[in-house]
Amino acid sequence: MLPSFDYVRPKSVQAAITHLNTGSAQAYAGGTDLMGCLRERIFPIGKVVSLSGLQELRGVNETADGGLRIGALTTLSTIAEHPIVIKRFGGLAQAAGEVGSPQLRNQGTLGGNICQKPRCWYYRADFTCLRKGGGTCFAVDGENQFHCIFGGGGTCFIVHPSDTAPALVALNATVRLAGPKGTRDVPIEKFFVLPEVDVRRETVLARGEIVTEVRIPSPAPGTRSSYRKVRARRSWDFALAGVALALRFDGKRVIGSRVVLSGAAPVPWRSTEVEQVIRGKELTANVIAAAAKAVTSGAEPLEKNGYKIPLFRGVIEEELTRTAASA
Ligand SMILES: Cc1cc2nc3c(=O)[nH]c(=O)nc-3n(C[C@H](O)[C@H](O)[C@H](O)COP(=O)(O)OP(=O)(O)OC[C@H]3O[C@@H](n4cnc5c(N)ncnc54)[C@H](O)[C@@H]3O)c2cc1C
Repeated sequence: MLPSFDYVRPKSVQAAITHLNTGSAQAYAGGTDLMGCLRERIFPIGKVVSLSGLQELRGVNETADGGLRIGALTTLSTIAEHPIVIKRFGGLAQAAGEVGSPQLRNQGTLGGNICQKPRCWYYRADFTCLRKGGGTCFAVDGENQFHCIFGGGGTCFIVHPSDTAPALVALNATVRLAGPKGTRDVPIEKFFVLPEVDVRRETVLARGEIVTEVRIPSPAPGTRSSYRKVRARRSWDFALAGVALALRFDGKRVIGSRVVLSGAAPVPWRSTEVEQVIRGKELTANVIAAAAKAVTSGAEPLEKNGYKIPLFRGVIEEELTRTAASA
C-alpha cells in the first residue's frame, strides 16, 4: 500500500526546486520507478513533486555545434525512435529501446532513467541494509547472483540499473542540474557515486536539485556507437551484462575508444582495460580475444555471480566482432 503524501504539480523549474528543497520530497517524472519505491517504503515521503508541468524539460534538439540536447522529461520511446538519435547517436537509441517494455518506455523518462534507485532485492525489500542506513550488506553472504563484480569496494554490491547511462557515458554526455544554488553542468561520468564514496547515494544530486537536460557532444567523424544488453529472459528485464561502445575508426583502425559496462558495477563501469587493448589497432580476431580477456581483469565476483565473467567476455567478443564487420 502507498503511504500518504502531498502532491504538487509546479509550473516552473524554480517552483519545483522550492518544493523539492523542503521536507522529504521526491521528484516524479514518469513514476515507473518512484511508485514502486514508495510502495516498498524504501525512503520516507512527505511530498511528491510532479515535473510533468515543465514543458521546457521535454524534447530532443540538435545544438548549433552538432551536438544533442535532450530534455530530462523526454520519454525513452521518443529517444529510441528519434531519427537523429538513431542516425548519429545510435548507441543511445539502442539503449533507450532496451529499457523494460513498450509501456515503460512510453511512460519512463531519460531523467528518471538515470536517477532510478537500485534493484537489489535486499534494498527493495524489508531489510535495513547499508544503503538504507543499516550496518550490513545482506548480499555479501546472501543471494548475490545479480550483484556487481566491480566497484563494490567491500561495502555495497548493487549494480547500476539504467540502460541509457552506460550509453551516455560512452558518448561523453553532460548532465545539467538546476537547484537552490543555481545551475551546474556535470560530466555524466562524475554524476554517479560509488559506495566507497557514499553508500547512501547513487548520484551527486544535492537536496532540491533536478536534472533538467542531458547534452551530448557531436561525435567525431568515424565514430560508431552501440549498446548490447544480455538479460535472463526475453520479456522486460534488467541487464545481467551489457556494453556501450563509442569507437572512432580511421579506416579499419580504432583511433578512439570508450567502452562502458552495464550490469557490472554500482555505477556505469568504464573498461579502460578494453579501451587500451583495442586503441590504435584493427579489430582482428586476436585483438578481440585479447579485449574479451581484458574486460574482466580486476573483477571480484561474489559466491553466486561468477557466471558474469564468461558472460562479459562473450558480450565483448560478440559486440566488437559485430562492430568490426560494419566498420
Ligand atoms: C517492470 C520494470 C522494468 C524495468 N526495466 C528497466 C530496464 O530494463 N532498464 C532500465 O534502465 N530501467 C528499467 N526500469 C526502471 C524505470 O522504469 C526506468 O528507469 C524509467 O526510465 C524511469 O523513468 P521515470 O520517468 O518513470 O522515473 P520516475 O519513476 O519518475 O523517477 C525515478 C527516480 O528518479 C528521480 N527523478 C526522476 N526525474 C528526475 C529528474 N529530472 N531530476 C532528478 N531526479 C529525478 C525520482 O525522484 C525517482 O527517485 C524498469 C522498471 C520496472 C517497473
